[in-house]
Amino acid sequence: MAQRLKQCRAEVAAIRWPRPDVIEVDLRMVEPDELAFEAGQWISVPFGPKTVRAWSMLSSPARRRVLTLAVDVAPSGMGSQWLRGLTVGDPVEFKGPTGGFVFNRADPRRAVFFAQEIGIVPVRSILADLYETGFGRPASLIYWVRDPSWLLYDAEFRSLARRYPSFTYLPAVREAQAGWRGDTGEPDAVVDRLVHSVDRLVVYACGGSDAINAVRDTLVKKGMDRKSVKWEKFW
Ligand SMILES: Cc1cc2nc3c(=O)[nH]c(=O)nc-3n(C[C@H](O)[C@H](O)[C@H](O)COP(=O)(O)OP(=O)(O)OC[C@H]3O[C@@H](n4cnc5c(N)ncnc54)[C@H](O)[C@@H]3O)c2cc1C
Repeated sequence: MAQRLKQCRAEVAAIRWPRPDVIEVDLRMVEPDELAFEAGQWISVPFGPKTVRAWSMLSSPARRRVLTLAVDVAPSGMGSQWLRGLTVGDPVEFKGPTGGFVFNRADPRRAVFFAQEIGIVPVRSILADLYETGFGRPASLIYWVRDPSWLLYDAEFRSLARRYPSFTYLPAVREAQAGWRGDTGEPDAVVDRLVHSVDRLVVYACGGSDAINAVRDTLVKKGMDRKSVKWEKFW
């Protein structure tokens, strides 16, 4: 069930750069001292009376005292600039958690997750939560990126697929490169090839609107009901 939005205070506990344009920020909760949330939800950081930026939790909801965000700062707007300027110990105010891009465990359908680049953030939280809590049903992740250097958390997803035979990891890139063994092409073409049947399927898609719309249209052409594609549009 969605939590009520809270006014929260935290402080920056650590900063990492998993690639040059993606920042990971650990936020240690101050008030309240822990935050209950559902995997897939986001927080809202204010930048003026009517201006906010939304960022999803990367970390699993089991970690309530320290949240991790992961943000692509290439857009270089006010949110990106603020994140680039953060240092350890800085105070951060935000509201949260909120958002309905959460996995429905009561849904018996097979789940396919589709993430475009930084859209992996809430999906990573959902998958961590599912497998930490003993989810045994078939699920797959189609992780589309422009090139292999963008495959954040790749080792983690490969490890998950080795440990849980019911989980299939399907990384895909726009253009094939030497040694690449995954799928290749634009997001909708990749989904068209990798999703063979839409029978008893639910899809959770996160990334940019163009990719999500194209993926959904492809699935609808295969006979899927539009409402069976749950989405979170980051841009
Ligand atoms: C519910 C929700 C959750 C989100 N969670 C995350 C998250 O976990 N990580 C994250 O990196 N972003 C996330 N975003 C996007 C985020 O809110 C900001 O838009 C992003 O961080 C850029 O902020 P900015 O102020 O630098 O640029 P903005 O002024 O917000 O954006 C400038 C332009 O770039 C576009 N844009 C934003 N992000 C991207 C992108 N990655 N690639 C291409 N174009 C983009 C915007 O639509 C806009 O046209 C989320 C958005 C929503 C609605």
